[in-house]
Amino acid sequence: MIQAKDIKKTYPNGVEALRGFSLLVKPSEVVVIVGPSGSGKSTFLRCLNGLEEIDRGSIVIDNIPLDHSKQNRMAIRREVGMVFQSFNLFPHMTVRENINLAQMLVRKKNRKQAEETTKDLLGKVGMLEKIEAKPGQLSGGQQQRVAIARALAMKPKIMLFDEATSALDPEMIGEVLEVMKALANEGMTMVVVTHEMGFAREAGDHIVFMEDGLIVEQADSRDFFSNP
Ligand code: ADP
Ligand code: ADP
Repeated sequence: MIQAKDIKKTYPNGVEALRGFSLLVKPSEVVVIVGPSGSGKSTFLRCLNGLEEIDRGSIVIDNIPLDHSKQNRMAIRREVGMVFQSFNLFPHMTVRENINLAQMLVRKKNRKQAEETTKDLLGKVGMLEKIEAKPGQLSGGQQQRVAIARALAMKPKIMLFDEATSALDPEMIGEVLEVMKALANEGMTMVVVTHEMGFAREAGDHIVFMEDGLIVEQADSRDFFSNP
């Protein structure tokens, strides 16, 4: 589903964030990326959905090469949903409007069609009763569940999570991880950057350790977490 080969990425300030990074992700696989701050995890996720240009190497997603073709880049942006550390919801819009809008703009749905999906997804993340709330009236964990519902509304084939629970108070981390685990169980292909090793053990198929722009170690989850 994802083929990333020998990716190099140097920022204009000279920082080499990725120094020959390769990763294969199979359909329905959940790959967890761990590593110290600044090792390039977030850069890799941003390259995968085309938010960041790569200098060398290649990325192919669901058989579509991420090249300079505008059409391919648009197709990939639609197939890859991303959830960030900060929830990035529109603060002046209700939960309903936040999730409807993306579908109407990108998926060209009318309001009625969008609304159906919005309600389905809010039910799924346990947020239907907050459909009229504005983001500021919700807890961090609730906002993040809405952000996940919004990403899912685009019907992505792949979901990327960039430290989705790092900004949350401890008591709210669990509710977001539960939603992520449910997605993993449904067979969503996922690349997850997280410090939550419990999630890696329960939901991860493959664990990748990054350091200084490279993979220094990787293992299947069952091997990594099995007792020696
Ligand atoms: P097996 O069937 O023996 O478990 P895999 O197909 O899982 O073999 O893995 C074969 C090789 O590819 C191993 O070196 C493994 O570390 C690597 N690998 C497996 N899955 C991934 C992945 N998602 N990303 C990167 N490398 C992987
Ligand atoms: P991680 O997600 O593992 O913390 P990042 O991918 O955010 O790592 O960062 C990798 C390296 O690239 C770090 O040294 C970081 O300071 C640098 N970096 C990240 N984003 C930018 C940017 N937009 N411009 C310049 N340097 C950046």
